[in-house]
Amino acid sequence: MIFGGDLGNGRVAIFGCSIRDWEGIVGAFFRFSGIKAEKEILISLGVARGDVPTRHKGRIAVRFLGVLLAGSVCAVALLAAVPAQAQTPHNVILFVADGLRRDIVNAKTAPTFALVRDRGVNFANSHALVPTLTMPNAAAIASGHYMGDTGPYGNTIYTGFPVPSAGGNVTPMIENDAMIGDLDDHFSGNYLNEETLLAAARKAGYSTAAIGKVGPIAVQDVTERTGEQTIIVDDSTGRNGGIPLGPAFAAALQEAGLQLQAPTRGHNGKAGDAKTPGTKVANIDQQRYFVDVTTKIILPRFKAAGKPFVLVFWSRDPDGTQHYQGDSLGQLVPGINGPTSMASIKNADDNLAAILETLRLLGLDGTTDIFIAADHGFSTISKESKTSPSARASYGDVPSGQLPPGFVAIDLAQALDLLLYDPDAKAALVDPKAGQHPNRANGLIGHDPSAPDVIVAGNGGSDLVYLPQTNAKDLAPKVVEALLAQDYVSGLFVDNSLGFIPGTLPLSTINLKGSALTPVPAIVVNFRSFGTGCAKPALCTAVVADQIFQQGQGTHGSFSRADTANFMAAIGPDFRARYIDRLPASNADVGKTLAYVLRLEIPRKGELVGRVLDESLKNGGKPAKVKSQTQISKPADNGLKTVLKLQVVGKTTYFDAAGFAGRSVGLDTVAKGQ
Ligand SMILES: [Zn+2]
Repeated sequence: MIFGGDLGNGRVAIFGCSIRDWEGIVGAFFRFSGIKAEKEILISLGVARGDVPTRHKGRIAVRFLGVLLAGSVCAVALLAAVPAQAQTPHNVILFVADGLRRDIVNAKTAPTFALVRDRGVNFANSHALVPTLTMPNAAAIASGHYMGDTGPYGNTIYTGFPVPSAGGNVTPMIENDAMIGDLDDHFSGNYLNEETLLAAARKAGYSTAAIGKVGPIAVQDVTERTGEQTIIVDDSTGRNGGIPLGPAFAAALQEAGLQLQAPTRGHNGKAGDAKTPGTKVANIDQQRYFVDVTTKIILPRFKAAGKPFVLVFWSRDPDGTQHYQGDSLGQLVPGINGPTSMASIKNADDNLAAILETLRLLGLDGTTDIFIAADHGFSTISKESKTSPSARASYGDVPSGQLPPGFVAIDLAQALDLLLYDPDAKAALVDPKAGQHPNRANGLIGHDPSAPDVIVAGNGGSDLVYLPQTNAKDLAPKVVEALLAQDYVSGLFVDNSLGFIPGTLPLSTINLKGSALTPVPAIVVNFRSFGTGCAKPALCTAVVADQIFQQGQGTHGSFSRADTANFMAAIGPDFRARYIDRLPASNADVGKTLAYVLRLEIPRKGELVGRVLDESLKNGGKPAKVKSQTQISKPADNGLKTVLKLQVVGKTTYFDAAGFAGRSVGLDTVAKGQ
């Protein structure tokens, strides 16, 4: 008997007959014989999807065998189907290249990423979720849910309670293991309110590990903080607030001569300031440690354990370097296309190459799926505004005429005639006329910093505005009016519970209203973006950013196509080879697809989920239909309308770009398949 193909995922490809042949044969027989269990048999053969009750399998298989031996010219090897149910799933390595733009990848800039994309699945219509920030997208990658369900709407959020490990700050930047622990403690033990892929894999008995950038790494198995079950290694390993190493793993590190404390970023960690350029080197040394831990210890141990494994490797490069690079201080060109940024892309590429080579040496390359994602794209920072009152004051650390960090908070406090306090400076009063601005772009606005009327959480290419008091409905139109007057704004999204405000779209249109536990922002403010002159504007976009970094450095967070176009590719036994997937795909789909490949049934609370990227799978179906849509708000008094371009597959929505006409890259040009 001859059979073969992909048995590992519970499906079968049978020599001599395509899947479609078998569907036809099986269908014809059952139509002829009147037996109604066709669907179940197709499922048990892996031809269709779903679960077959165990009690049916044997009976079905026997009857089916007889049919095919009698009637099919393709009748070879069919019985392989039922045993295939018992096969173990393949291993999965999820490699996240933080901030890797989709279209920057080619054979020269990133040969390994390009090779995986070209030999495996090229997700040519990929999407980060908006706001295009790391923690929200890390939650999506980990759980398969949009942030309306998981709750980290930004890297900096208003938590609604003083976070102990942030010194009591209510607007912490949550890329921090201790703060994630505090959030878990406060929000029912799991602040994401959804089970993650790694947690489900761990519970199913698979080997699990998450290695790399602090913050998104601890999110991957957000409730397992002992280090004993899922291996966690990040920037905080061996440091205060870090997640511990299990004793056996720590001993293995020592035996291999690797430190128990993760190295710092060294020179790569120098952001510079308004007068001093930032770093000129990629994050080589720190990431070499993460690669060594992965290739010398974890993968050999996983192989020896003999169980399926799931490993997440989160490369801080190119993100960290693109933020801090000193190639372009004060200038929009080259911005994030300078030599230091390119070196950081190559660094991430080298890390992937080292992991792939180790898989090959261990003989795991044939049984391991590699999925590569980026949490978001990237842009160069602009600090220009002709309308902002904040840009007219002078500050010691901001070039004259430029926007200071915290410009939204400063402008809102002035427009509302309220006081501004800095949550990152023990709620000290901020007086812009005296040359003061919020330290980290966040602000508490009102008469009492312990009960502010308005809270601004600065996030780079977009800001979150919270209205936590009972006057929220009165304040919302006033805040919107103030923001509509500023040239740096490009699109406003308002919490549905505050009513429809002309010029804005509801938060629900971007999937930010779901079952999340953390406070929901009243208004999400997207900032203006523009091309700086290149063939593909999304590769040389500048975006106004509310952040401590300088003009000419890098950021993300906006709703422009430069920030939503993330790199995505996959290769391995479960994925099609040399396949260009033109359907929209997103980071929420990553979580869903990998759960499917790993055959994990993950319970869910919220409904804002991605889809299984079925068309990209070896035995997947034909591409589904895509609908392109544009949502446009009612005009504000000054005529501005928030426009949202999106694509829909089934019930899943993908956000291409949003903003005011002429103020967001990709808003006027994104078409189907881009
Ligand atoms: Zn970043």
